[in-house]
Amino acid sequence: MASAAYRQLLDATIRHLESLQAQGVGFVPLKRDSLAALIAPVRTSSPAMPRTPTPPADRPSTSAPRAAAPVCVKSPASVAPAASPVRNVMPARSVLDPKARRAAFEELRQRALVCTRCPNLAASRTQVVFGVGNPEAELLFIGEAPGADEDLQGEPFVGAAGQLLTKIILAMGFTRDQIYIANILKCRPDTPGQTSGNRKPTPQEMATCIPYLEEQIDLIQPRVMVALGATAIEGLIGKTETGVTRLRGSWLDYRGIPLMPTYHPAYLLRNQSLSIKRLVWEDMLLVLERLGQPITPKQRGFFLKPA
Ligand code: SF4
Repeated sequence: MASAAYRQLLDATIRHLESLQAQGVGFVPLKRDSLAALIAPVRTSSPAMPRTPTPPADRPSTSAPRAAAPVCVKSPASVAPAASPVRNVMPARSVLDPKARRAAFEELRQRALVCTRCPNLAASRTQVVFGVGNPEAELLFIGEAPGADEDLQGEPFVGAAGQLLTKIILAMGFTRDQIYIANILKCRPDTPGQTSGNRKPTPQEMATCIPYLEEQIDLIQPRVMVALGATAIEGLIGKTETGVTRLRGSWLDYRGIPLMPTYHPAYLLRNQSLSIKRLVWEDMLLVLERLGQPITPKQRGFFLKPA
């Protein structure tokens, strides 16, 4: 017989999958050992099996199952409530077949590129800004939404704030090709009647677009994520009364993945003080430590006031 704890975990997993399905997620990568762990007791006690999510409305309908559709349910830990303190355990990365991962990523990208779920944004955008970098990256940066430069170039973080983010990434010892960068929203928020400026995405826009990012995260399976700014934090873990200033510097948990909140690079551009730069850099040092990356004494000392 399955234990009560197992049944609770299974029920939570099913609820999580149904919630993803309701949000339009049609693809969830699954670790083989997680699947085995779910199936084994089921064979002896016959509880309900988690259902395979059905395709979202804007996915081309097909009566046959998609051949390359990866199996999925992240580790059982992924059903932990968002924003709970992170466990002191690095989540294991499931072994996704690289070919299947690339195919699924491209299928997702193609789906996003023609998305019109937000009619006003679809009408006003130059292009969808899907994301950039290595789909197998261990580190994922998440920002708010494309600005004017990103909308024109089709790549996140290419404007002034993006150039600063690139400097941060390089100072950490990475290139943009080695990590992945995406936004909560894939289209530039429209600003009717304005010729310039950006606006914050609405909660409804974020809720509409987030399934794309969730699918990206499920495919990338980063070991560590960084949320850049309050909107990125809100998009990932929900609205919180606690601001970035108090959240930053401590780990959050995003479905089993350690999530470091920090200031948006645009905030650093507006606040050029050394102490704010140091705070962000201390967050990045925590990220490097979490990834097990070597940190040089020079890196440790960045933005410290001279003694
Ligand atoms: S913001 Fe996201 S959901 Fe809305 S139209 Fe763009 S890609 Fe689609």
